[in-house]
Amino acid sequence: MKTFDVAIAGGGLIGGTIAFELARAGLHVAVFDRQQPGEGSSWAAAGILSPAPENAGMISTVPLGRASLQLYPEFVASVEESSGQSAGYRARGTLEALFSTDAQEKLSTIIALHHGLGLKAEPVSAEDAREMEAALSPDLEAAVFRPDEACVDNRALTKAVLIAAERSGVKLFSGSNVQSIAKNGGRCAGLIVDGKKIESRWTVIAAGCFSAEIEGAAQYAPVRPAKGQMIALRGKDFSIERVLWSDHVYLVPRNEGRILAGATVEYVGFEKNVTAGGVQKILTAALELVPALADAQIEETWAGLRPDSPDHLPIIGPTDLDGLLIATGHFRSGILLAPITAQLIREWITMQNVTVEWARFSPTRFGEVARATNS
Ligand SMILES: Cc1cc2nc3c(=O)[nH]c(=O)nc-3n(C[C@H](O)[C@H](O)[C@H](O)COP(=O)(O)OP(=O)(O)OC[C@H]3O[C@@H](n4cnc5c(N)ncnc54)[C@H](O)[C@@H]3O)c2cc1C
Repeated sequence: MKTFDVAIAGGGLIGGTIAFELARAGLHVAVFDRQQPGEGSSWAAAGILSPAPENAGMISTVPLGRASLQLYPEFVASVEESSGQSAGYRARGTLEALFSTDAQEKLSTIIALHHGLGLKAEPVSAEDAREMEAALSPDLEAAVFRPDEACVDNRALTKAVLIAAERSGVKLFSGSNVQSIAKNGGRCAGLIVDGKKIESRWTVIAAGCFSAEIEGAAQYAPVRPAKGQMIALRGKDFSIERVLWSDHVYLVPRNEGRILAGATVEYVGFEKNVTAGGVQKILTAALELVPALADAQIEETWAGLRPDSPDHLPIIGPTDLDGLLIATGHFRSGILLAPITAQLIREWITMQNVTVEWARFSPTRFGEVARATNS
């Protein structure tokens, strides 16, 4: 029987970043992943780092997103230093293009909303927007520039985090299926992995959209998969500098010249097919935003599964079972929220206290409903 200070189920960006953070705090940490770590949602994402809420329901995650965005430069620097690999971080802001005839009205509303939430946002005229990004459609009416926002190459970052974690002493077990949590005397005492007990003082469930399948975790992490399809394009004779948005699509530049376009949000179970309808939807909106993409080469298409919770908010923190913590449900923002999630879990494990308010994200909030559904 192996014994660790912390056993983590899931080696995506969330589990990997928590492991790296805890190992640097001097803890003996193990991560168990049933596939090759880093090949789940964290591989499939676009890597946009934007705390701006997509709708009113997401406003409560803004403080968490802002705190995480602030941690990003230092997080990337420490990961790159420890791993010797680049994470493809681009801190150049994001530009949201408005096309509607009521664009000016919409612009004022967006700017006021952002400022009310403490987020930087600047109104930009159509001419200035095209000055910033020459490839933008001539049809746009106005734009919003969010100077603090950024993007990162999530595939490179996740790989680098896992290397950095291992170099910091984390034991990474690939091809290791976590079946259930292990209980002992009314507390969580580790994990059952491929029929064997792994003993730990602390246990963290970070298995993305599969977290609810781990026996004993479903009541705290009732997540389901939200499929997202993506396309990687390579433009001919043009590039974009920063993340571009419209109401229907986002475009994300990578340092090696590709432009990622995404993404659909579909509730179709665990299948990850790329569909004609999904590709059509993304490409139609992408060409509306940047017409020159019509000549771009399609280099890759893929789909991934975001971990979505019943209220679409992340699930982070201790449960009512001593020793068991949850870190999942990050839905569309898990790349952004990885550093703050790791910081909060480290603070709780080492001090039983946290420096950022997290009650809203408690794994105990699903209570009786989840217990009844999952019993
Ligand atoms: C198309 C798309 C675009 C996105 N774009 C963005 C974006 O721009 N910005 C952003 O912030 N977020 C984005 N996201 C969301 C982000 O990718 C996720 O929120 C984040 O990656 C979740 O990380 P994770 O580590 O929890 O999950 P994952 O990366 O899925 O990792 C979970 C790991 O757990 C393992 N696992 C599962 N079950 C078990 C088990 N029983 N035993 C052992 N291991 C197990 C899996 O093999 C996997 O490696 C996007 C997601 C998608 C799909």
